Amino acid sequence: MGVVERLGRGGFGLRDSKPGRNALRTRMDSPAFRTSEPSLTSHEAMLDFVASLVRRSGGLRLGSVGRSAQGRDIPLLRFGECAPDRPVIWLIAQQHGNEPAGGEAMLALASALADGELTPLLDRIGVMIVPRVNVDGAAADRRVLASGADANRDHLLLSQPEVRALHAAMRAWPPDVVFDHHEFSVGRRWVEKFNGLQGADVMILEATNPSIAKGLSAIAHDFYRPALEGAIARAGLSSFDYVTTDSGTADKRVSLGGTAPGIARNAFGLRGTVSYLIETRGVGIGLENFERRVRTHYRLVEAVLAASAADPDRLLARVAAARAATATDRSDLIVTHEAGERDIELPLIDAESGAPMPTPARLIDSRDIRPLDVRARPVGYLVLRAAGVVAERLALNGVSVREVARGILDVEAYGVMRKGGAVQVDIRRKTIDVPSGALFVPMAQPAAGIAAAALEPDSPGSFIGAGLVPMADGDTEAPVYRVMDHAHGWDRATPWRS
Ligand SMILES: [Zn+2]
Repeated sequence: MGVVERLGRGGFGLRDSKPGRNALRTRMDSPAFRTSEPSLTSHEAMLDFVASLVRRSGGLRLGSVGRSAQGRDIPLLRFGECAPDRPVIWLIAQQHGNEPAGGEAMLALASALADGELTPLLDRIGVMIVPRVNVDGAAADRRVLASGADANRDHLLLSQPEVRALHAAMRAWPPDVVFDHHEFSVGRRWVEKFNGLQGADVMILEATNPSIAKGLSAIAHDFYRPALEGAIARAGLSSFDYVTTDSGTADKRVSLGGTAPGIARNAFGLRGTVSYLIETRGVGIGLENFERRVRTHYRLVEAVLAASAADPDRLLARVAAARAATATDRSDLIVTHEAGERDIELPLIDAESGAPMPTPARLIDSRDIRPLDVRARPVGYLVLRAAGVVAERLALNGVSVREVARGILDVEAYGVMRKGGAVQVDIRRKTIDVPSGALFVPMAQPAAGIAAAALEPDSPGSFIGAGLVPMADGDTEAPVYRVMDHAHGWDRATPWRS
């Protein structure tokens, strides 16, 4: 019997017999559930639905993130005022077009907010909802953008118009907290490697990169995590840390997310927001258990909003303290690292019976980081080529950038070697003649983690590595320099003209 039949016979191991079924039975209003059987919500149905919410609610402001590569509008829904004394919570979904449950949950949440069900919360927080980032992918029930790129991996480089537009929208209402909603693969590589299906209803993970402010990770761990786990327990759902595994069958290790700066979850952390990934069990099973998947996102996001509104002053104070700590940090930068490994038990289930099948596996633990390349934190970076585009991309990620006057300056220069796909550097002292109008990126700011990830050439996915800052053929010195002392006062220089 083939994998597909076995999957089908097992009903994916999710019969509605688990405890908590009743706890999941409350009203949920979204286009998918207005038909007798749940259906995928088309782009047009989504637009009609949000337009109907505007007609029904005085509290909803409907805007647009922008247009996709194929010209579809990407709606942006704002509830509550985004005032300085209120945390701004961004909820984004469906960066991957074939992961519909998160997006549907955002529509159901918007309906509840529009009906005033959660009104007291909206006196204390601002809520920004992007139900469907990848509108073209969703229209084709496809993971990637129309360009073929993975939106979720583009949050440092910002090479894709949809991702750039999302970050541009965030400039108007800068996030304090971002929740990013996805679905994970039920069978496929899990069957191939472990002969089982993923059993958890939901997997969650905070930002995991060694340059994330400790104060932001602490908010994720001691504040949002208990709120999420409480909601999971009350609904009778099962959860696990988010794990993934590559598509080959040779390497049976699994990874706790990943640490790449360009992953949305990590990029939002590096720019100074509390950042979380929520994934339900849904890729590869069509609309099976769709209502349960949507409710899972809905329950968690409801808990997130309630927790955020419980003591907004305290939340904002903690976020501000974490950002200030980054801005004044003088510790060394961890440019590259490796992750530790340990044994875990994966909560798999038998493909035919749905019975629990706890399975030993080796976990690459992205919370257990061993630094490899460590170097002194510079005062800032000078960028002497592609300065306009670098300034634009960094500014979209909340980095403030400066334009500086001409001067002779002692700096650290990078000698760059490429080995395979990787960039290696050696660092040497040098005196350079800085042209007038050069771009300076100071590190004394909350989004310093983005600046270093983008501009240290050997950091994974850096602007040099990706070619955004081009190097001429045969050139071995990067057109990016480390400024190591404060004497020039450039961190207070003129903001970059854009
Ligand atoms: Zn996804």
